[in-house]
Amino acid sequence: MNYHSHTNSNLTARFGDALLASLAPDGGLWMPDKIPHFTEEQTAEMGAMSFADCAAILARHFVDDRFSDEDLLELCREAYDFPVPMVALNGIVLDVATPEIADEYMLELFHGPTLAFKDFAARFMGRAASHLMSAENDKRTILVATSGDTGGAIGDAFLDQDGIQVFILFPKGGVSKVQEQQLCTMGTEHSNVKAISVDGTFDDCQRLVKEGFGNERLTKKYSLMSANSINVGRVIPQSFYYFWTSLQIKAAHPGKPIVYSIPSGNLGNLTGGLIAKQMGAPIMRFVVGNNTNDPFVDYLKSGEYRPRPSVPTLSNAMDIGRPNNFPRILDLYDNNYDAVGDVCWGASFSDEETERHLRSIHREHKYVMCPHTAVGHLAMEAFSSDIEDEFIKVTVATAHPAKFINSVERIIREDVPMPAPLQKIMNKTKRFHVMEPSLEALENYLELNTA
Ligand SMILES: *Cc1c(COP(=O)(O)O)cnc(C)c1O
Repeated sequence: MNYHSHTNSNLTARFGDALLASLAPDGGLWMPDKIPHFTEEQTAEMGAMSFADCAAILARHFVDDRFSDEDLLELCREAYDFPVPMVALNGIVLDVATPEIADEYMLELFHGPTLAFKDFAARFMGRAASHLMSAENDKRTILVATSGDTGGAIGDAFLDQDGIQVFILFPKGGVSKVQEQQLCTMGTEHSNVKAISVDGTFDDCQRLVKEGFGNERLTKKYSLMSANSINVGRVIPQSFYYFWTSLQIKAAHPGKPIVYSIPSGNLGNLTGGLIAKQMGAPIMRFVVGNNTNDPFVDYLKSGEYRPRPSVPTLSNAMDIGRPNNFPRILDLYDNNYDAVGDVCWGASFSDEETERHLRSIHREHKYVMCPHTAVGHLAMEAFSSDIEDEFIKVTVATAHPAKFINSVERIIREDVPMPAPLQKIMNKTKRFHVMEPSLEALENYLELNTA
């Protein structure tokens, strides 16, 4: 598969080069030249495989010949060694052998090592990058801006990898306590993963990373690479779980339309879903939930795209005023507003509405959602109240509620158990550097801290 810049289709690259370069030379986002399409017969076969094996087959169509089929199978089996359950609100897990247990599921994408869906993309990308680099004896410096979960997932995926240094930029005071603990306790003092607390918002962090990449001297000197969802290597693997889970639902609920709701910020997760649909995944529609930072929902309603400064909310990983992947979504639908509107429907919610919903779902079902997931679930409820036909609802649960334990416990007025991977890090000493939001400060820090 070849990739082209979304702003100039004459600029092309193989998958590996697009991944390592992060952005096209004109600053555009890499897009696959052609999304593969699978027939119903093929999808039925792929749905019967394990998730990892299905992912390896999908990946074959997106990578280049530096990856053999065996490489991909090994990579996906190693990366995806955790479950991908679809859970009814009563706690029963969907199993194709016991169909039709509910008409609504939570797709829990938080059973990876850092307890957020970002692990799916980070673990694929980390292994793919290291496979490419080991062949070339290469060195890279990864700059990653995080609104909370990306940094943890990328740090975990690249920890102790030869030839790679990772700098995680997070907004000071803008991530949850547990997220901050996770970001600032990776590895030892001499670890290749370093956390930087930027005195600003997530948009500042994202801007700094973009400025770094826009600076040719810095890009060359440090061989900079982005692990944010501007990198196509982050977006492609996020199509895998939509593809595979929609086939599980289809097998359990033959003939019923399927709708996914995605709590969204930078729109990388939604872009993955849209790619899955174009590949032939049986998904009728995507519902998009935004918090009050809602430029995408605003676009769906008005046809106008108005990026804006972000404001802090309870669902901090979605506090994004200028979503990175908006141009990719337009590109997938040839810049046709009506075509985007046919597949996407959106609604946005305040923190107050989110809290009330999280509390009432807990009261009614004993199911605890993270604040982001609650926004997605609210959006699904708003969507379904308009629709009379029967369909299967799947809300994407993007993070484990314990990652936001302080807010969630306050809202539901009950303790939330800490899963073991989080318990382990809570007492570790944090290591991080505080920095003003300027490229000069970033450059100074890189100068002192790169090997
Ligand atoms: C990153 C994140 C989101 C938003 O995903 P995008 O791909 O940026 O739209 C939602 N929820 C959680 C918990 C996240 O970490």
